Amino acid sequence: MLIYNTLTRLKEEFKPLHAPHVGLYVCGPTVYGDAHLGHARPAITFDLLYRYLQHLGYKVRYVRNITDVGHLEHDADEGEDKIAKKARLEKLEPMEVVQHYLNSYHHDMEQLNVLPPSIEPHASGHIIEQIEFIKRILAAGYAYESQGSVYFDVEKYNNDHHYGILSGRNIDEIRENTRELDGQSEKRRSIDFALWKKAAPEHIMHWPSPWSEGFPGWHLECSTMGTKYLGEEFDIHGGGMDLMFPHHECEIAQSVAALGHPTVRYWMHNNMITINGQKMGKSLGNFITLEQFFSGNHPLLKQAYSPMTIRFFILQAHYRSTLDFSNEALEASEKGLQRLTEAYERLMKLKAGGNTTVDVAGLRQKCEEAMADDINSPLVIGHLFESAKAINTIHDGKGSISPDDLKELQDTWKTFVVDILGLRIGDSAQGNGTEALSKAVDLLLNMRLEAKRNKDWATSDRIRDELTALGFSIKDTKDGFEWSL
Ligand code: ZN
Repeated sequence: MLIYNTLTRLKEEFKPLHAPHVGLYVCGPTVYGDAHLGHARPAITFDLLYRYLQHLGYKVRYVRNITDVGHLEHDADEGEDKIAKKARLEKLEPMEVVQHYLNSYHHDMEQLNVLPPSIEPHASGHIIEQIEFIKRILAAGYAYESQGSVYFDVEKYNNDHHYGILSGRNIDEIRENTRELDGQSEKRRSIDFALWKKAAPEHIMHWPSPWSEGFPGWHLECSTMGTKYLGEEFDIHGGGMDLMFPHHECEIAQSVAALGHPTVRYWMHNNMITINGQKMGKSLGNFITLEQFFSGNHPLLKQAYSPMTIRFFILQAHYRSTLDFSNEALEASEKGLQRLTEAYERLMKLKAGGNTTVDVAGLRQKCEEAMADDINSPLVIGHLFESAKAINTIHDGKGSISPDDLKELQDTWKTFVVDILGLRIGDSAQGNGTEALSKAVDLLLNMRLEAKRNKDWATSDRIRDELTALGFSIKDTKDGFEWSL
Protein backbone atom coordinates (compact mmCIF):
# COMPACT_ATOMS: atom_id res chain seq x y z
CA MET A 1 0.00 0.00 0.00
CA LEU A 2 1.35 3.41 -0.92
CA ILE A 3 1.10 6.05 1.73
CA TYR A 4 2.20 9.59 1.02
CA ASN A 5 2.14 11.96 3.92
CA THR A 6 3.25 14.97 1.95
CA LEU A 7 2.64 16.44 -1.45
CA THR A 8 6.27 17.27 -2.16
CA ARG A 9 6.90 18.26 -5.79
CA LEU A 10 3.18 18.20 -6.28
CA LYS A 11 3.26 19.78 -9.67
CA GLU A 12 5.70 17.31 -11.25
CA GLU A 13 4.89 14.12 -9.43
CA PHE A 14 1.23 14.29 -8.56
CA LYS A 15 -0.71 12.38 -11.17
CA PRO A 16 -4.45 12.41 -10.50
CA LEU A 17 -6.25 9.15 -11.21
CA HIS A 18 -8.66 10.79 -13.62
CA ALA A 19 -7.00 14.05 -14.69
CA PRO A 20 -8.18 16.75 -15.12
CA HIS A 21 -10.44 15.66 -12.25
CA VAL A 22 -9.10 15.44 -8.71
CA GLY A 23 -10.95 13.84 -5.81
CA LEU A 24 -10.31 15.54 -2.47
CA TYR A 25 -11.92 14.42 0.79
CA VAL A 26 -11.43 16.27 4.07
CA CYS A 27 -12.83 15.34 7.47
CA GLY A 28 -15.14 18.17 8.45
CA PRO A 29 -16.37 19.32 11.83
CA THR A 30 -18.51 17.57 14.41
CA VAL A 31 -21.12 20.27 14.77
CA TYR A 32 -21.96 20.56 18.47
CA GLY A 33 -20.26 23.84 19.39
CA ASP A 34 -18.90 27.10 17.99
CA ALA A 35 -15.91 26.84 15.66
CA HIS A 36 -12.58 27.76 17.26
CA LEU A 37 -9.00 28.33 16.14
CA GLY A 38 -8.50 24.57 15.86
CA HIS A 39 -11.21 24.45 13.17
CA ALA A 40 -9.70 27.34 11.24
CA ARG A 41 -6.42 25.57 10.56
CA PRO A 42 -7.64 22.51 8.60
CA ALA A 43 -10.28 24.65 6.86
CA ILE A 44 -7.63 27.13 5.66
CA THR A 45 -4.99 24.48 4.88
CA PHE A 46 -7.32 22.52 2.61
CA ASP A 47 -8.81 25.69 1.16
CA LEU A 48 -5.26 26.59 0.11
CA LEU A 49 -4.82 23.14 -1.47
CA TYR A 50 -8.23 23.38 -3.17
CA ARG A 51 -7.45 26.80 -4.61
CA TYR A 52 -3.97 25.71 -5.70
CA LEU A 53 -5.19 22.55 -7.47
CA GLN A 54 -7.72 24.68 -9.34
CA HIS A 55 -4.93 27.11 -10.22
CA LEU A 56 -3.04 24.16 -11.76
CA GLY A 57 -6.04 23.61 -14.00
CA TYR A 58 -7.64 20.65 -12.24
CA LYS A 59 -11.37 20.24 -11.76
CA VAL A 60 -11.56 19.41 -8.09
CA ARG A 61 -14.42 17.57 -6.47
CA TYR A 62 -13.96 18.64 -2.87
CA VAL A 63 -15.98 16.65 -0.34
CA ARG A 64 -16.00 17.85 3.28
CA ASN A 65 -18.31 15.91 5.54
CA ILE A 66 -20.41 17.03 8.46
CA THR A 67 -20.32 14.70 11.45
CA ASP A 68 -23.74 14.79 13.02
CA VAL A 69 -24.02 11.32 14.51
CA GLY A 70 -21.85 8.67 16.13
CA HIS A 71 -19.05 10.86 17.50
CA LEU A 72 -19.05 9.77 21.13
CA GLU A 73 -17.58 11.72 24.00
CA HIS A 74 -14.76 9.30 24.63
CA ASP A 75 -12.68 7.26 22.27
CA ALA A 76 -13.06 3.51 22.61
CA ASP A 77 -16.75 3.71 21.75
CA GLU A 78 -17.93 5.05 25.07
CA GLY A 79 -19.87 7.99 26.39
CA GLU A 80 -22.81 9.92 25.05
CA ASP A 81 -23.10 11.11 21.45
CA LYS A 82 -21.72 14.68 21.44
CA ILE A 83 -24.69 16.09 19.54
CA ALA A 84 -27.31 14.14 21.47
CA LYS A 85 -25.81 15.40 24.73
CA LYS A 86 -25.98 19.02 23.60
CA ALA A 87 -29.58 18.47 22.45
CA ARG A 88 -30.51 16.98 25.82
CA LEU A 89 -28.89 19.81 27.79
CA GLU A 90 -30.45 22.55 25.65
CA LYS A 91 -33.80 20.76 25.15
CA LEU A 92 -33.48 20.85 21.36
CA GLU A 93 -33.92 18.36 18.57
CA PRO A 94 -30.48 16.95 17.66
CA MET A 95 -30.92 18.27 14.11
CA GLU A 96 -31.64 21.73 15.55
CA VAL A 97 -28.27 21.59 17.28
CA VAL A 98 -26.62 20.46 14.03
CA GLN A 99 -28.27 23.19 11.95
CA HIS A 100 -27.48 25.91 14.47
CA TYR A 101 -23.76 25.14 14.66
CA LEU A 102 -23.52 24.37 10.98
CA ASN A 103 -24.93 27.82 10.14
CA SER A 104 -22.45 29.39 12.49
CA TYR A 105 -19.58 27.30 11.05
CA HIS A 106 -20.52 28.40 7.52
CA HIS A 107 -20.62 32.01 8.66
CA ASP A 108 -17.15 31.76 10.21
CA MET A 109 -15.75 30.03 7.11
CA GLU A 110 -17.16 32.76 4.91
CA GLN A 111 -15.47 35.37 7.11
CA LEU A 112 -12.17 33.51 6.72
CA ASN A 113 -12.70 33.46 2.93
CA VAL A 114 -12.73 29.64 2.93
CA LEU A 115 -14.46 28.46 -0.25
CA PRO A 116 -17.39 26.09 0.25
CA PRO A 117 -16.68 22.46 -0.76
CA SER A 118 -18.33 20.88 -3.81
CA ILE A 119 -20.30 18.44 -1.65
CA GLU A 120 -20.96 18.63 2.08
CA PRO A 121 -22.57 15.32 3.01
CA HIS A 122 -24.02 14.64 6.47
CA ALA A 123 -23.29 11.34 8.20
CA SER A 124 -26.95 11.11 9.28
CA GLY A 125 -28.01 11.32 5.62
CA HIS A 126 -25.98 8.22 4.75
CA ILE A 127 -27.18 5.61 7.25
CA ILE A 128 -28.27 3.17 4.52
CA GLU A 129 -24.89 3.40 2.78
CA GLN A 130 -23.13 2.85 6.11
CA ILE A 131 -25.21 -0.26 6.81
CA GLU A 132 -24.32 -1.60 3.35
CA PHE A 133 -20.64 -0.92 4.06
CA ILE A 134 -20.84 -2.87 7.34
CA LYS A 135 -22.42 -5.79 5.49
CA ARG A 136 -19.43 -5.91 3.13
CA ILE A 137 -16.97 -5.89 6.05
CA LEU A 138 -18.95 -8.67 7.77
CA ALA A 139 -19.05 -10.69 4.54
CA ALA A 140 -15.28 -10.37 4.21
CA GLY A 141 -14.91 -11.75 7.73
CA TYR A 142 -13.34 -8.70 9.39
CA ALA A 143 -16.19 -7.83 11.75
CA TYR A 144 -18.44 -9.61 14.24
CA GLU A 145 -21.83 -9.01 15.78
CA SER A 146 -22.20 -8.86 19.53
CA GLN A 147 -25.45 -8.12 21.37
CA GLY A 148 -26.86 -5.97 18.58
CA SER A 149 -23.63 -4.08 17.93
CA VAL A 150 -21.04 -4.77 15.23
CA TYR A 151 -17.30 -4.44 15.89
CA PHE A 152 -14.31 -4.38 13.58
CA ASP A 153 -11.94 -7.29 14.29
CA VAL A 154 -8.60 -5.46 14.41
CA GLU A 155 -6.54 -8.56 15.30
CA LYS A 156 -7.87 -10.54 12.34
CA TYR A 157 -7.35 -7.59 10.01
CA ASN A 158 -3.79 -7.14 11.23
CA ASN A 159 -2.99 -10.79 10.46
CA ASP A 160 -3.67 -10.09 6.79
CA HIS A 161 -2.81 -6.40 6.53
CA HIS A 162 -1.02 -3.77 8.61
CA TYR A 163 -3.19 -1.94 11.14
CA GLY A 164 -1.19 1.23 11.96
CA ILE A 165 0.35 1.70 8.52
CA LEU A 166 -0.47 5.43 8.33
CA SER A 167 0.81 6.45 11.74
CA GLY A 168 3.73 4.01 11.59
CA ARG A 169 2.64 2.01 14.64
CA ASN A 170 2.36 -1.70 15.10
CA ILE A 171 -0.41 -3.56 16.83
CA ASP A 172 1.60 -4.35 19.99
CA GLU A 173 2.26 -0.66 20.62
CA ILE A 174 -1.38 0.16 20.00
CA ARG A 175 -2.49 -2.64 22.31
CA GLU A 176 -0.26 -1.36 25.11
CA ASN A 177 -1.81 2.09 24.85
CA THR A 178 -5.39 0.85 24.84
CA ARG A 179 -7.33 0.62 28.05
CA GLU A 180 -8.12 -2.89 29.25
CA LEU A 181 -11.72 -4.06 29.00
CA ASP A 182 -13.62 -4.11 32.27
CA GLY A 183 -15.02 -7.56 31.60
CA GLN A 184 -18.53 -6.30 30.85
CA SER A 185 -17.73 -5.31 27.29
CA GLU A 186 -19.36 -6.79 24.23
CA LYS A 187 -16.06 -6.40 22.35
CA ARG A 188 -13.75 -9.37 21.99
CA ARG A 189 -10.66 -7.18 22.39
CA SER A 190 -10.18 -3.66 23.60
CA ILE A 191 -8.61 -2.47 20.31
CA ASP A 192 -11.68 -3.46 18.28
CA PHE A 193 -13.85 -0.50 17.29
CA ALA A 194 -17.56 -0.10 16.70
CA LEU A 195 -19.08 -0.11 13.22
CA TRP A 196 -22.63 -0.18 14.59
CA LYS A 197 -23.77 0.46 18.15
CA LYS A 198 -27.06 -0.69 19.59
CA ALA A 199 -28.76 2.36 21.06
CA ALA A 200 -29.42 2.43 24.80
CA PRO A 201 -33.09 3.21 25.62
CA GLU A 202 -32.27 6.86 26.47
CA HIS A 203 -30.26 7.40 23.26
CA ILE A 204 -32.32 9.73 21.07
CA MET A 205 -30.58 9.30 17.71
CA HIS A 206 -31.15 5.82 16.29
CA TRP A 207 -32.06 4.02 13.08
CA PRO A 208 -33.20 0.48 12.22
CA SER A 209 -30.57 -1.98 10.98
CA PRO A 210 -30.26 -5.77 10.57
CA TRP A 211 -28.53 -5.92 13.98
CA SER A 212 -30.44 -3.50 16.19
CA GLU A 213 -32.06 -0.12 16.47
CA GLY A 214 -28.86 1.90 16.73
CA PHE A 215 -26.34 4.22 15.09
CA PRO A 216 -23.10 3.94 13.08
CA GLY A 217 -19.59 4.24 14.53
CA TRP A 218 -17.85 7.54 13.85
CA HIS A 219 -15.01 6.21 11.67
CA LEU A 220 -17.39 4.57 9.23
CA GLU A 221 -18.94 7.72 7.75
CA CYS A 222 -15.74 8.84 6.01
CA SER A 223 -15.05 5.44 4.39
CA THR A 224 -18.65 5.39 3.19
CA MET A 225 -19.08 8.95 1.95
CA GLY A 226 -15.56 9.18 0.50
CA THR A 227 -16.10 6.16 -1.73
CA LYS A 228 -19.70 7.11 -2.51
CA TYR A 229 -18.77 10.51 -3.95
CA LEU A 230 -15.17 10.04 -5.10
CA GLY A 231 -15.05 6.37 -6.10
CA GLU A 232 -13.41 3.29 -4.63
CA GLU A 233 -10.01 4.86 -5.24
CA PHE A 234 -9.42 8.59 -5.01
CA ASP A 235 -6.57 11.10 -4.91
CA ILE A 236 -6.26 12.99 -1.64
CA HIS A 237 -7.66 12.64 1.88
CA GLY A 238 -6.98 15.34 4.43
CA GLY A 239 -7.64 16.24 8.03
CA GLY A 240 -6.00 17.37 11.24
CA MET A 241 -3.01 15.46 12.62
CA ASP A 242 -5.15 14.43 15.61
CA LEU A 243 -7.32 12.40 13.22
CA MET A 244 -4.44 10.28 11.89
CA PHE A 245 -4.88 7.82 14.75
CA PRO A 246 -7.29 6.25 15.32
CA HIS A 247 -9.77 7.87 12.90
CA HIS A 248 -7.88 7.58 9.61
CA GLU A 249 -6.19 4.34 10.58
CA CYS A 250 -9.65 2.83 11.16
CA GLU A 251 -10.85 4.32 7.90
CA ILE A 252 -8.07 2.57 5.97
CA ALA A 253 -8.81 -0.74 7.73
CA GLN A 254 -12.55 -0.48 6.97
CA SER A 255 -12.01 0.31 3.31
CA VAL A 256 -9.38 -2.38 2.77
CA ALA A 257 -11.61 -4.89 4.58
CA ALA A 258 -14.71 -4.04 2.55
CA LEU A 259 -13.16 -3.39 -0.85
CA GLY A 260 -10.00 -5.45 -0.79
CA HIS A 261 -7.74 -2.47 -1.50
CA PRO A 262 -6.94 0.98 -0.07
CA THR A 263 -9.00 3.89 -1.35
CA VAL A 264 -6.73 6.87 -0.70
CA ARG A 265 -3.52 7.64 -2.64
CA TYR A 266 -2.27 10.68 -0.72
CA TRP A 267 -2.91 11.47 2.93
CA MET A 268 -2.32 15.01 4.09
CA HIS A 269 -2.47 16.19 7.70
CA ASN A 270 -2.22 19.68 9.09
CA ASN A 271 -0.41 20.07 12.39
CA MET A 272 -2.04 21.42 15.56
CA ILE A 273 -2.42 24.89 17.05
CA THR A 274 -1.34 25.51 20.62
CA ILE A 275 -2.25 28.55 22.71
CA ASN A 276 0.67 30.12 24.56
CA GLY A 277 2.42 26.76 24.30
CA GLN A 278 -0.50 24.76 25.70
CA LYS A 279 -2.93 22.41 24.05
CA MET A 280 -6.36 23.93 23.54
CA GLY A 281 -9.08 22.63 25.77
CA LYS A 282 -12.31 23.72 27.43
CA SER A 283 -10.99 22.72 30.84
CA LEU A 284 -7.81 24.80 30.38
CA GLY A 285 -9.80 28.02 29.90
CA ASN A 286 -7.92 28.76 26.67
CA PHE A 287 -10.62 27.68 24.31
CA ILE A 288 -11.17 30.72 22.07
CA THR A 289 -13.89 30.66 19.43
CA LEU A 290 -13.47 32.35 16.06
CA GLU A 291 -16.24 34.81 16.91
CA GLN A 292 -14.31 35.76 20.06
CA PHE A 293 -11.20 36.39 17.96
CA PHE A 294 -13.20 38.56 15.57
CA SER A 295 -14.75 40.58 18.43
CA GLY A 296 -11.83 40.51 20.89
CA ASN A 297 -14.25 39.32 23.55
CA HIS A 298 -12.13 36.85 25.55
CA PRO A 299 -9.89 37.43 28.60
CA LEU A 300 -6.83 36.03 26.80
CA LEU A 301 -7.20 38.45 23.89
CA LYS A 302 -5.65 41.92 23.96
CA GLN A 303 -7.74 43.11 21.02
CA ALA A 304 -10.00 41.94 18.18
CA TYR A 305 -8.31 40.27 15.22
CA SER A 306 -9.85 40.44 11.78
CA PRO A 307 -10.65 37.19 9.93
CA MET A 308 -7.93 38.02 7.40
CA THR A 309 -5.37 38.42 10.20
CA ILE A 310 -6.30 34.93 11.43
CA ARG A 311 -6.03 33.56 7.89
CA PHE A 312 -2.68 35.24 7.32
CA PHE A 313 -1.38 33.99 10.69
CA ILE A 314 -2.22 30.40 9.68
CA LEU A 315 -0.75 30.78 6.17
CA GLN A 316 2.50 32.16 7.61
CA ALA A 317 3.30 28.71 9.04
CA HIS A 318 3.83 25.60 6.97
CA TYR A 319 0.83 23.31 7.46
CA ARG A 320 3.01 20.50 8.82
CA SER A 321 4.56 22.69 11.55
CA THR A 322 2.91 23.32 14.87
CA LEU A 323 1.63 26.84 15.28
CA ASP A 324 1.51 28.66 18.59
CA PHE A 325 -1.03 31.39 19.18
CA SER A 326 -0.13 34.42 21.27
CA ASN A 327 -1.24 38.05 21.12
CA GLU A 328 2.30 38.98 20.05
CA ALA A 329 2.25 36.49 17.17
CA LEU A 330 -1.14 37.74 15.97
CA GLU A 331 -0.12 41.38 16.27
CA ALA A 332 2.92 40.59 14.12
CA SER A 333 0.65 38.92 11.55
CA GLU A 334 -1.63 41.94 11.58
CA LYS A 335 1.32 44.22 10.81
CA GLY A 336 2.64 41.84 8.15
CA LEU A 337 -0.72 41.68 6.45
CA GLN A 338 -0.96 45.46 6.57
CA ARG A 339 2.41 45.79 4.78
CA LEU A 340 1.42 43.21 2.17
CA THR A 341 -1.92 44.92 1.58
CA GLU A 342 -0.24 48.31 1.22
CA ALA A 343 2.21 46.92 -1.33
CA TYR A 344 -0.68 45.27 -3.20
CA GLU A 345 -2.69 48.47 -3.35
CA ARG A 346 0.36 50.48 -4.41
CA LEU A 347 1.17 47.94 -7.12
CA MET A 348 -2.32 48.14 -8.60
CA LYS A 349 -2.06 51.95 -8.81
CA LEU A 350 1.52 52.00 -10.07
CA LYS A 351 2.22 53.74 -13.39
CA ALA A 352 4.56 52.09 -15.89
CA GLY A 353 7.23 54.07 -17.72
CA GLY A 354 10.69 53.58 -19.11
CA ASN A 355 12.82 50.53 -18.51
CA THR A 356 12.55 48.27 -15.53
CA THR A 357 15.23 49.25 -13.02
CA VAL A 358 14.17 47.04 -10.12
CA ASP A 359 14.42 43.28 -9.66
CA VAL A 360 10.93 41.95 -10.40
CA ALA A 361 11.77 39.01 -12.67
CA GLY A 362 11.13 35.45 -11.60
CA LEU A 363 8.53 36.12 -8.90
CA ARG A 364 5.89 33.90 -10.50
CA GLN A 365 8.40 31.09 -10.99
CA LYS A 366 9.57 31.30 -7.37
CA CYS A 367 6.02 31.29 -5.98
CA GLU A 368 5.03 28.36 -8.23
CA GLU A 369 8.08 26.43 -7.01
CA ALA A 370 7.20 27.08 -3.38
CA MET A 371 3.60 25.92 -3.82
CA ALA A 372 4.67 22.82 -5.76
CA ASP A 373 6.98 21.88 -2.90
CA ASP A 374 4.41 20.63 -0.41
CA ILE A 375 2.28 23.79 -0.46
CA ASN A 376 4.89 26.06 1.12
CA SER A 377 2.73 29.12 1.82
CA PRO A 378 5.24 30.80 4.20
CA LEU A 379 7.82 30.76 1.41
CA VAL A 380 5.32 32.29 -1.04
CA ILE A 381 4.67 35.05 1.49
CA GLY A 382 8.43 35.57 1.86
CA HIS A 383 8.82 35.99 -1.91
CA LEU A 384 5.95 38.49 -1.95
CA PHE A 385 7.56 40.56 0.82
CA GLU A 386 10.80 40.54 -1.17
CA SER A 387 8.88 41.79 -4.20
CA ALA A 388 7.16 44.46 -2.07
CA LYS A 389 10.54 46.17 -1.65
CA ALA A 390 10.76 46.67 -5.43
CA ILE A 391 7.19 47.96 -5.52
CA ASN A 392 7.95 50.50 -2.80
CA THR A 393 11.10 51.62 -4.63
CA ILE A 394 9.06 52.43 -7.74
CA HIS A 395 6.29 53.97 -5.65
CA ASP A 396 8.82 56.26 -3.98
CA GLY A 397 10.06 57.39 -7.40
CA LYS A 398 13.45 55.71 -7.01
CA GLY A 399 12.92 53.21 -9.81
CA SER A 400 10.80 52.51 -12.87
CA ILE A 401 9.04 49.58 -14.51
CA SER A 402 8.10 48.81 -18.10
CA PRO A 403 4.44 48.28 -19.05
CA ASP A 404 4.97 44.54 -19.72
CA ASP A 405 6.79 43.95 -16.45
CA LEU A 406 4.16 45.89 -14.53
CA LYS A 407 1.36 43.83 -16.00
CA GLU A 408 3.18 40.58 -15.21
CA LEU A 409 3.88 41.74 -11.66
CA GLN A 410 0.26 42.76 -11.09
CA ASP A 411 -1.01 39.45 -12.49
CA THR A 412 1.38 37.47 -10.31
CA TRP A 413 0.37 39.31 -7.15
CA LYS A 414 -3.30 38.88 -7.93
CA THR A 415 -2.85 35.15 -8.64
CA PHE A 416 -0.94 34.40 -5.45
CA VAL A 417 -2.38 36.89 -2.97
CA VAL A 418 -6.04 36.81 -3.95
CA ASP A 419 -6.64 33.54 -5.82
CA ILE A 420 -4.27 31.12 -4.05
CA LEU A 421 -3.60 32.52 -0.57
CA GLY A 422 -7.22 33.69 -0.56
CA LEU A 423 -6.52 37.01 1.14
CA ARG A 424 -9.29 39.56 0.82
CA ILE A 425 -7.51 42.80 0.05
CA GLY A 426 -9.25 45.80 1.57
CA ASP A 427 -10.31 43.70 4.56
CA SER A 428 -6.98 44.47 6.18
CA ALA A 429 -5.92 44.14 9.74
CA GLN A 430 -6.98 47.46 11.19
CA GLY A 431 -10.16 48.11 9.32
CA ASN A 432 -13.23 46.12 8.50
CA GLY A 433 -13.16 47.89 5.15
CA THR A 434 -14.77 46.09 2.29
CA GLU A 435 -14.11 46.67 -1.37
CA ALA A 436 -17.23 48.84 -1.55
CA LEU A 437 -16.08 51.03 1.33
CA SER A 438 -12.70 51.42 -0.28
CA LYS A 439 -14.30 52.49 -3.56
CA ALA A 440 -16.57 54.96 -1.73
CA VAL A 441 -13.55 56.59 -0.06
CA ASP A 442 -11.73 56.79 -3.40
CA LEU A 443 -14.82 58.44 -4.86
CA LEU A 444 -14.97 61.05 -2.09
CA LEU A 445 -11.27 61.80 -2.39
CA ASN A 446 -11.56 62.19 -6.17
CA MET A 447 -14.42 64.65 -5.58
CA ARG A 448 -12.14 66.49 -3.20
CA LEU A 449 -9.43 66.69 -5.90
CA GLU A 450 -12.01 68.13 -8.28
CA ALA A 451 -13.12 70.66 -5.66
CA LYS A 452 -9.49 71.69 -5.16
CA ARG A 453 -9.00 72.14 -8.88
CA ASN A 454 -12.09 74.40 -8.86
CA LYS A 455 -10.67 76.25 -5.84
CA ASP A 456 -13.75 75.19 -3.83
CA TRP A 457 -11.75 75.06 -0.59
CA ALA A 458 -14.84 74.71 1.64
CA THR A 459 -15.87 71.41 0.01
CA SER A 460 -12.31 70.14 -0.17
CA ASP A 461 -11.71 70.83 3.56
CA ARG A 462 -15.06 69.40 4.57
CA ILE A 463 -14.38 66.05 2.84
CA ARG A 464 -10.91 65.87 4.41
CA ASP A 465 -12.09 66.84 7.91
CA GLU A 466 -15.06 64.51 7.99
CA LEU A 467 -13.07 61.54 6.71
CA THR A 468 -10.38 62.33 9.28
CA ALA A 469 -13.01 62.44 12.02
CA LEU A 470 -14.16 58.99 10.91
CA GLY A 471 -10.64 57.69 11.47
CA PHE A 472 -9.19 57.88 7.95
CA SER A 473 -5.72 59.21 7.49
CA ILE A 474 -5.31 61.07 4.21
CA LYS A 475 -2.07 62.02 2.51
CA ASP A 476 -1.77 64.23 -0.57
CA THR A 477 0.74 62.93 -3.09
CA LYS A 478 1.97 64.26 -6.40
CA ASP A 479 -0.37 61.92 -8.32
CA GLY A 480 -3.39 62.47 -6.09
CA PHE A 481 -3.87 60.90 -2.68
CA GLU A 482 -3.26 57.96 -0.41
CA TRP A 483 -5.44 56.92 2.47
CA SER A 484 -5.65 54.34 5.20
CA LEU A 485 -8.05 53.57 8.02
ZN1 ZN B 1 -13.25 11.53 8.86
